[in-house]
Amino acid sequence: MKIGGLVKCSLVDFPGKLAAVIFTQGCNFRCLYCHNPHLVYPELFARPISWEYIKKFLEKRRGLLEGVVFCGGEPTIQEDLLERIQEVRSLGYAVKLDTNGSRALLLHSVLPYLDYVAMDIKAPLGPRYSYVCGVPVDLTEIRRSMEWIRRSGIAYEFRTTVHPDYMPMEEIESIRNLLTPGEKYILQHAQPFELPTDS
Ligand code: SF4
Repeated sequence: MKIGGLVKCSLVDFPGKLAAVIFTQGCNFRCLYCHNPHLVYPELFARPISWEYIKKFLEKRRGLLEGVVFCGGEPTIQEDLLERIQEVRSLGYAVKLDTNGSRALLLHSVLPYLDYVAMDIKAPLGPRYSYVCGVPVDLTEIRRSMEWIRRSGIAYEFRTTVHPDYMPMEEIESIRNLLTPGEKYILQHAQPFELPTDS
């Protein structure tokens, strides 16, 4: 797993849990408003943090932290994601995954080991999806990911980043129509570029 950042303690990234946040390097999307280019474009990658360092840190924080969040970049492009999630669980942590939902099969394989999943819905499910994501997106994968998350039985949320130029509020209504009643749906405003920092 290529890791570009670690937030050692967060109150806001895992609902109801004090959590560490692992930022993986690399993403298969190029969203127009992306505020994590240092985790997306290989030429901007910092020297990766080793898994050994992360694991030692998590071993020391057992009993203090409750959860671990895997986010990115896009964690599902990491070949060893399942193995790393299982290791974190074996240390006694709850696990949350943040994903763009583009790799449904991989997501399906890790869902049984998660306690929470947050999936981005980048745009209404039409031609604008690929435009906003900056790459061709297979919408079947997005639909499939949404369905598998719903059937998984774990806590989840869908979320959309609102940007006045690329994803205006007017289009949010179309996205809301994809949701089933009572589903948790978060709107987040596009953030300026910011490096993850240790805390
Ligand atoms: S999916 Fe996330 S990390 Fe990847 S390009 Fe889009 S906003 Fe950036």
